[in-house]
Amino acid sequence: MTEFEDAKQNLEDALDKIEKAEYLERLKNPESYLETSFSVQMDSGERKSFMGYRSLHSSARGPGKGGIRFSPEVNEDEVKALSLWMSLKCAVVDIPYGGGKGGVSVDPSGLSKSELERLSRRYVDSVFKVIGPDTDIPAPDMNTGEQEMAWMMDQYSQLEGSKTPESFTGKPVEAGGSKGRGDSTGFGAAYIIEKIIQETNQEPEDMTAAVQGFGNAASPAVKKLDEIGVNVIAVSDSSGATYNMNGLGYKELIKCNRERGEVCPVGEEISNEELLELDVDFLVPAAIEGVITEENADDVSADYIVEIANGPTTRKADKILKENGVKMIPDILANAAGVTVSYYEWVQNRTGEYLDRDEVLDRLQNKMINAYKEFRETRDEEDVYGRQAAYMMAAERIVNSMQAEKP
Ligand code: NAD
Repeated sequence: MTEFEDAKQNLEDALDKIEKAEYLERLKNPESYLETSFSVQMDSGERKSFMGYRSLHSSARGPGKGGIRFSPEVNEDEVKALSLWMSLKCAVVDIPYGGGKGGVSVDPSGLSKSELERLSRRYVDSVFKVIGPDTDIPAPDMNTGEQEMAWMMDQYSQLEGSKTPESFTGKPVEAGGSKGRGDSTGFGAAYIIEKIIQETNQEPEDMTAAVQGFGNAASPAVKKLDEIGVNVIAVSDSSGATYNMNGLGYKELIKCNRERGEVCPVGEEISNEELLELDVDFLVPAAIEGVITEENADDVSADYIVEIANGPTTRKADKILKENGVKMIPDILANAAGVTVSYYEWVQNRTGEYLDRDEVLDRLQNKMINAYKEFRETRDEEDVYGRQAAYMMAAERIVNSMQAEKP
């Protein structure tokens, strides 16, 4: 897939720039990879076979961390590439993890709740020997959520012979999950935007943002931006976009969205393509990959792109955006708050000391702002584009940890 090829190319450039090209081969491939075939009893009594995957990209900085997706598209290349992406993301925000990723090749939409539970538990049986709180800690991803993590953690605990909440993150709060996790990704990006506004001596009320997407990651971003005072003038989902040059209120948006199940035309109806071209201070792609390409990059009028989605901008588009002076806060930094709160969840499970929501979000805000400041220093000192600065930071940290290993 283009975005993974782009990620590998960006890594290669970053390693060249920090003069560590000799680490490329090692970083291109995961440290370990497991492919399993296992069977699950369906409600009908019939047994069906599934392919399961888990890739640990790097343990140089700590145990692996990354989601488990249930999707027909899950395959070897995808989980390997996504585990590399997780290593970079954890390194940018400096949490002590490497990258992991896994999944099952399945269309979960046709499964009953009990079939999903058996699938989740059998998946854990099949990868048990390569996961664990000190080796590789899975989390939710596409088509998995709190419920699947609760089943998986329970299954892991049964196999381990003791309650092991720190084996999975993204669990329900009642099963050891962290407060504040649901809002974390969107809030994290909004904290960075708030910091940019402060350091450029501007007022949030004079700033505008357009957000593509209104799902789990985008909706809390809109909520926080609205709270900060930024005028969110457009939001969208797969059904289209809504726009009001004077700002769309989050409360009205979310109320209507809950009633209708899609983003409501509380403002003027525009297309997703038009949203990307709006003349705003912050353009926040927060839906899907590959939406800003060489075809439309010249039409982007925003001052900043803050990528909540994974891989929304292609490498070819980056070149055009850079020439046009559009500043980039790349995905591996802008959407790293979710994995950061996963880390807080793991720490809470290990210490037995649980934080309230404000404590979690205060910590998160500090973490994201510190990561942003380090990123900005690298970008300005090295005089490179935003994406390259983030890749250089990540590559440097991973390589430094590798150098500390046994020769
Ligand atoms: P989600 O399924 O909750 O929401 C996706 C949103 O995108 C929905 O509003 C959907 O209608 C919209 N959408 C889908 N196709 C679209 C299209 N063609 N044009 C415009 N909008 C479209 O997913 P999510 O969890 O919010 O994830 C969104 C992105 O953020 C993904 O790239 C994901 O990898 C990334 N991300 C999410 C998290 C998280 O914590 N949820 C963390 C890191 C990265």
